[in-house]
Amino acid sequence: MTIAFAEVLVASPGRNFVTLRITTSDGVTGLGDATVNGRELAVAAYLTEHVVPLLIGRDEQRVEDTWQYLYRGAYWRRGPITMAAIAAVDTALWDIKAKTAGLPLYQLLGGKSRTGCLAYGHASGKELPELFDSVRAHLAEGYRAIRIQTGIPGLDSVYGVASSANAARGAGESTRYDHEPARRGALPVEEQWDTRAYLRHAPAVFEAVRNEFGPELPLLHDAHHRLTPIQAAKLGRSLEPYDLFWLEDVTPAENQDALRLVRQHTTTPLAIGEVFNTIWDYRKLIENQLIDYVRSPITHAGGVTGLRRIMDYAAVYQIKSGVHGPTDVSPVGLAAALHLGIALHNFGIQEYMRHDRRTDEVFRPTYRFVDGLLIPGDEPGLGVDYDDEVAGAHPYEQAYLPVNRLLDGSLHDW
Ligand SMILES: [Mg+2]
Repeated sequence: MTIAFAEVLVASPGRNFVTLRITTSDGVTGLGDATVNGRELAVAAYLTEHVVPLLIGRDEQRVEDTWQYLYRGAYWRRGPITMAAIAAVDTALWDIKAKTAGLPLYQLLGGKSRTGCLAYGHASGKELPELFDSVRAHLAEGYRAIRIQTGIPGLDSVYGVASSANAARGAGESTRYDHEPARRGALPVEEQWDTRAYLRHAPAVFEAVRNEFGPELPLLHDAHHRLTPIQAAKLGRSLEPYDLFWLEDVTPAENQDALRLVRQHTTTPLAIGEVFNTIWDYRKLIENQLIDYVRSPITHAGGVTGLRRIMDYAAVYQIKSGVHGPTDVSPVGLAAALHLGIALHNFGIQEYMRHDRRTDEVFRPTYRFVDGLLIPGDEPGLGVDYDDEVAGAHPYEQAYLPVNRLLDGSLHDW
């Protein structure tokens, strides 16, 4: 059996996805997620023009060798487009290997280490009453851990919170801002940011949430790459009384040493890495124990092979997984994360924003959300099946993540 052909499938069932489907000479198919939000067609072209032709005739069982062939063979290393393309091939080959073995993928990764993967959802509100309603709605859905994001006085729209325009449209709006920041159109939406206002406001929000919901509920928060190291240190310290599960992406972290300064000043656990794509991006962070959770998804970090390598390295330092799970990680990427997560000893938590109905109609995932835990399907492979006919009704539409400006008009990290 060899790889007979591979197809790059681009569709937009609610949002854009890039999916690789590899088919063997015996007709076994495997799926991989290659979605890079706002840059979808770059990775689609990378796969179509430069990767698919290399796969034809290869032994589909040689997952590690194919990973190294695409990583070392490109000469140009790392980067989100390359690593998403490698991730898609790697995930599709694991899917095929598990199907041909007649086993769910987690069995090939060592079998179950737990009954299910603890998931966290996204609660948000521009003001506290709306935020509290959102927390209650998540608790009613079964979530046992919740991310908290709110508006900031003086700012019209803020990362992770429904914009006032969206809120005004009310409950009929199918995609709230916090469920889908990428906006369709020729240009990105522009947002505003004021770090001093944020640093003043955030501790009061967490005090209010703890007063309303008590001390036990695990709470998470995302600073979304917007702080300098000393601002991040200040935020971490100011949130210590509220016992966060984690504080995420406090600095852009291209400068890994920045986390040293943050770490020296706070015991709030830190999560980093949703925009990282290789083990090299984590080297100092892991070796120097500057973080507590690895945020990379399978989709952007070289697949099951790439993320498992990072997590085995992290385990040496008692660092756990906290895999990125926004809606732009497709059900293929999420399913792969759940197979790895249920098998990993050092699993921590899984981000879970539910995909909308149209997305699930295309991918037909078999994972389940039960009492706050995500559980991968038990059929051979990943447990995801791409429906070409349904996908065909949802062609690609240009969409971008927002950009962000400070109040003086200068560009800032989004
Ligand atoms: Mg994040």
